Amino acid sequence: MKYYSLNGTAPAVDFRTAVINGQAPDKGLYFPGTVPVLDADFWEGIGRYDDHAIARRIILPYAGDSIPEAELARIVEETLSFPVPLRPVSESMHVLELFHGPTLAFKDVGARFMSRCLSWFARGLDGRVVVLVATSGDTGGAVAAAFHGVPYVDVVVLYPKGRVSPVQEAQIAGAGDNVHALEVAGTFDDCQALVKQAFADTNLREALYLTSANSINVARWLPQQFYYALAWKQWPRKDRPPVLSVPSGNFGNIGAALLLHRSGLPVQQFVAACNANDGVARLLAGTPGERRAAIATLSNAMDVADPSNFVRILELFGGDTAALRQMLRVTTTTDDQTREAIRAVYERFGYVLDPHSAVAWHGLQQGLPPGEHGILVGTAHPVKFPGVVAEETGAPVPYPPAIAGLMERPLQKEPLAVSYDALRTRLLALR
Ligand SMILES: *Cc1c(COP(=O)(O)O)cnc(C)c1O
Repeated sequence: MKYYSLNGTAPAVDFRTAVINGQAPDKGLYFPGTVPVLDADFWEGIGRYDDHAIARRIILPYAGDSIPEAELARIVEETLSFPVPLRPVSESMHVLELFHGPTLAFKDVGARFMSRCLSWFARGLDGRVVVLVATSGDTGGAVAAAFHGVPYVDVVVLYPKGRVSPVQEAQIAGAGDNVHALEVAGTFDDCQALVKQAFADTNLREALYLTSANSINVARWLPQQFYYALAWKQWPRKDRPPVLSVPSGNFGNIGAALLLHRSGLPVQQFVAACNANDGVARLLAGTPGERRAAIATLSNAMDVADPSNFVRILELFGGDTAALRQMLRVTTTTDDQTREAIRAVYERFGYVLDPHSAVAWHGLQQGLPPGEHGILVGTAHPVKFPGVVAEETGAPVPYPPAIAGLMERPLQKEPLAVSYDALRTRLLALR
């Protein structure tokens, strides 16, 4: 598989180079040259395959020419080392629970897949690989956990001071060793701008193998397709494909779902459920307006003003926004509506939603035609947001064993001003 840059001037590359570069030299996102089609037999008979076989089938055309098949099988096995259950919550709604991985949020799968691919590729290089990440909350923790202790690789995580939850911070700054946590005196957009500047710095990139682990890296983005095949495997009504609501910030997760739909995944309609950050909703409504800064909300992993993966979705539809609007509805949800959803779903069905999943619930309510059935994607465990969840349900959320020891680890973080020079100096010290 060749990957081309969406900015159109960098040369097409193989999977290995796309993973190591992260972003193309012309600053474009990489996009696969073809979208493989999985035949009707696969989708109809998906219940016959185990989860790893399904994942291998999906990823092989994307990565198979850069990683030997047996190695790829091992990577898939280590990536999907936890269940992805589809739980019925009400008569018309299921929740696809993506939060049973080590950091209790859906980014575990992409981060684990990428760390193992990168480690495989880094063995042959003559210098260290530095993974540079800006996070609004969950990416950083997932990446820190996925790369902690991985040979030949350092991880540098930039996160906005005071804007991530205590559990998220513990996951980012509690890892230590080859994971460096930089607490930035600014917003997520500031963090992202600093990271973009580093990637555009050719001198720096001659000194270090710099790569991203945000969902723009194809090794983060592509394995998110696994979830949706596993959802379909468990979907009880194969005669009626679901409406699928995905809580969306950078639009990577929903982009992966749309990509798998191109490969044949049966879905009736997609909902990109956003919080108050409504940039894409305005764009698709034909009223883009002015650029705005990100708004801080309860669903902080989705506080993104300018979603980087949206260009991939546009590419998938050949830039045809009318066709895109047919398939994808973009909804927005306020913090009050998020709270209301947490309370209502708990009272009516006894199910506890985290704020991100609550946004997807609210989005599905808006996007679900009467009589239809839907899946909302649960992207984070409610324990990651104990304050708001306990306020709305009236009950504290118990810590699952996976993170019981997490809060005792000392934080190892360094302050960073919103200054590119400061970041550059810090990165060069890793050589
Ligand atoms: C990252 C994240 C999202 C948004 O996913 P995107 O791929 O950025 O759209 C939603 N929920 C949680 C919990 C997340 O961590």
